[in-house]
Amino acid sequence: MSVLDSDYFRSLAPRVADGSASAFLTQLDRVAGCTNPVRLTGRVDQIDTASGEIRRTFDTTDLPDGVILVPCGNRRASVCPSCSYLYAGDAWQIVHAGMVGGAGVPESVATHPGLFVTVTAPSFGPVHSRAKHGPPQVCRRRRGRCPHGIASGCWRVHAEGDPLLGQALCPDCHDDAGLIVWNRTAGRLWKRTVDLAYRRMAHMEGISERQCRQAVRISYVKVAEGQARGAVHYHALLRLDDATTPDGTWAPPPAWASGKLLAHCWRWAVTHAEQPCPDPHAADLPTDADALSALVDGGPLGEEHRPDPVDPFPAMTYARWGEQCDTRHVRVEGGDLTPLAVGNYLAKYITKSVVDSGALDRRFRDTDDLHARLPFLTPHHARLAHAAWRLGRVPELADLNLRKWAHQFGFNGHWLSKSRRYSTTFTARRTARRVWARTHTPTGGERIPLDAWGRPEDDDQVVTVTDWRYQGSGYKTPSDTWLALQAADQARSRREAVRRPGSESSMERECAA
Ligand SMILES: [Zn+2]
Ligand SMILES: [Zn+2]
Ligand SMILES: [Zn+2]
Repeated sequence: MSVLDSDYFRSLAPRVADGSASAFLTQLDRVAGCTNPVRLTGRVDQIDTASGEIRRTFDTTDLPDGVILVPCGNRRASVCPSCSYLYAGDAWQIVHAGMVGGAGVPESVATHPGLFVTVTAPSFGPVHSRAKHGPPQVCRRRRGRCPHGIASGCWRVHAEGDPLLGQALCPDCHDDAGLIVWNRTAGRLWKRTVDLAYRRMAHMEGISERQCRQAVRISYVKVAEGQARGAVHYHALLRLDDATTPDGTWAPPPAWASGKLLAHCWRWAVTHAEQPCPDPHAADLPTDADALSALVDGGPLGEEHRPDPVDPFPAMTYARWGEQCDTRHVRVEGGDLTPLAVGNYLAKYITKSVVDSGALDRRFRDTDDLHARLPFLTPHHARLAHAAWRLGRVPELADLNLRKWAHQFGFNGHWLSKSRRYSTTFTARRTARRVWARTHTPTGGERIPLDAWGRPEDDDQVVTVTDWRYQGSGYKTPSDTWLALQAADQARSRREAVRRPGSESSMERECAA
């Protein structure tokens, strides 16, 4: 017997003893070993509308510990591998359905003009970087020193995954506060940019903005990616639709609304969009003495380093995009990107955490919690999290509620978001899974769901009443937690066995199940 097997039986022993082993393993299998499931008690009753008779169809008292486990649904792979896999599958479906149809969206959307775009944050100071494309390059060719006496250049060629990447060359030359407020404003800047694109299209066509919006809709799905330097940037798919069709239907836009027009108007909007924001530097920030010295003494900043008492950064009253703005046509009009490539590209970012260590996976409860987690971050990220926390105390920035978002360096948006009419929704995906589970056997055969009287279920015949109570989250014993990890491992092996290399369609199939 291997060590693993003996661990397994030791962990299972308490449940073997109380007779719940098999039922508990079935539960774990059903939630795919979710790391942090919600435990609920409750029951489901059905009432026959004709006779008024009530029958119980489900009661958690029959389950191990009298609770049912509900998956946590977290999107981050570092929090819950099983749930993040499902989330990524749903996200992939949402993105993909809007490009080639499926999940209730007609295949004809593939003929609408489409554009794959990337918009980035501006620079907030020099950071270590590497060339994304082309031959390896020196980080930053610059002679001399900054006002703080630190070399302005870096002559290294950084390898991929170098922990220095994204870190400021000189912390005092990096506008932490500007980056935090920019992240916080990015979502509204996006919205303003879409509005500007409409305005530009109307201008180009010589019609009013209102007429333009009545004829054409810019539908989009966008994914936010946290860069190593701490700023967020967006990858998005834009699609032009006919704006006159009713909800739940899609048609191509009028001929004048071409992909070329969209590309021009989008680039124009990205260059011109300005979203007002409170100036992060106007406030009298509590700087060195209190907060930062604690950090320096505690070590997370890595070196004896005091900030410059003179704030060197210019006022920032608008958030704007950075200079890198990438637009590529998808499919029609000679587009060089296939919908599959775009879907995979977007889905890749969705389960990523802000930092890999998982130290930023949840909000900071208080200053102690913040300080406890800073040592697990790079000095640059520690400074950003700390700056966001400090800025949260500044009255001029109170509306931004930055303490709530300090763990995301100010970013408060959704990692995946879409315009209402882009395609399907996460809720629709979850409902589809539930319906599938009710109407299919575990091996995939079809079955007709029956009511408490053994009749095919019919909403006119029975009313279903449910009553759920929250009991807690996570597992109650270390042995249960250990068993859950094994179940998650098994679920992963099963997924990998189903998935052919290079194919996402099996993932799609599995997630539809
Ligand atoms: Zn989970
Ligand atoms: Zn460098
Ligand atoms: Zn400097």
